[in-house]
Amino acid sequence: MRVRVGVVGAGGRMGRMLLGEVLATGDMELVGAVDRPDSPAQGMDAGLLTTGEPCGVLVHDDPVSLFADAEAVLDFTRPEATVEHAKLAAQGKTVHVVGTTGLEPDQVAMIERAAKHTPIVLAPNMSLGVNLLMALVEKVAAALDESWDIEIVEMHHRHKVDAPSGTALGLGRAAAAGREVDLAERAVRARDGVTGERRAGDIGFATLRGGDVVGDHTVIFAGAGERIELTHKAASRDIFAKGAVRAARWALGQHPGVYTMADVLGM
Ligand code: NAD
Repeated sequence: MRVRVGVVGAGGRMGRMLLGEVLATGDMELVGAVDRPDSPAQGMDAGLLTTGEPCGVLVHDDPVSLFADAEAVLDFTRPEATVEHAKLAAQGKTVHVVGTTGLEPDQVAMIERAAKHTPIVLAPNMSLGVNLLMALVEKVAAALDESWDIEIVEMHHRHKVDAPSGTALGLGRAAAAGREVDLAERAVRARDGVTGERRAGDIGFATLRGGDVVGDHTVIFAGAGERIELTHKAASRDIFAKGAVRAARWALGQHPGVYTMADVLGM
């Protein structure tokens, strides 16, 4: 029996990747694709949005029926939509894989309430490599004392509107967790002019923007006479889609609750 999977935000950049990934797996069946009523993707065959081959599933605007029908729904949309989707997931006991970023704390709290009824995987970066990098950064930071300066450098495409990236901040949180300090107290998110010397224990961030870079992150541990650099480079958005599909497969066997990619990866 193939797993019945749906995609919300099907017409989006990530939505199309997710459709392609689900259609390519042998153990999943695409049972629905939803987008906003005003989306240009409305009524289109979901296969045409991704592989160019029709698959017989047409994009529609009814998430209620999708969540009732699917065993798992992949959601890379917008925060306000994702909160509504989480309520539907709770009603339908549907696995909900959330890649949407920019959720406010009260929105996360609403998702946590929904997760009392169904498994929800919440991960601002679904790439398996980035999540492994976070675990490595925490371990390295725990092993080194504050004589090793931590700097986090990220580069993204020219259209990105926020800085540092959510992933860079996540890496900062991982480093801070390793050192058992609070990132908010140690983060230096920008430097300009006469900044004075670097304080021991600071966790610095540097942001680069340009071209079509999908996402590069490097965490530098700079000591006296030696330096460790841990780098992840995303070459394509399909790594996020592959991570989401893996998360859905994993979550189908879980009890209700909020899970992260670290849970999915068993880290
Ligand atoms: P996008 O704008 O290309 O796509 C978003 C899609 O969601 C659009 O098709 C839009 O019409 C649809 N949508 C919005 N409101 C909706 C609603 N109420 N119901 C149904 N569909 C709705 O954006 P994108 O680049 O695909 O990114 C989407 C989200 O995923 C963003 O929050 C982005 O930051 C995040 N993202 C997460 C990861 C990750 O690994 N977790 C990776 C990449 C992007």
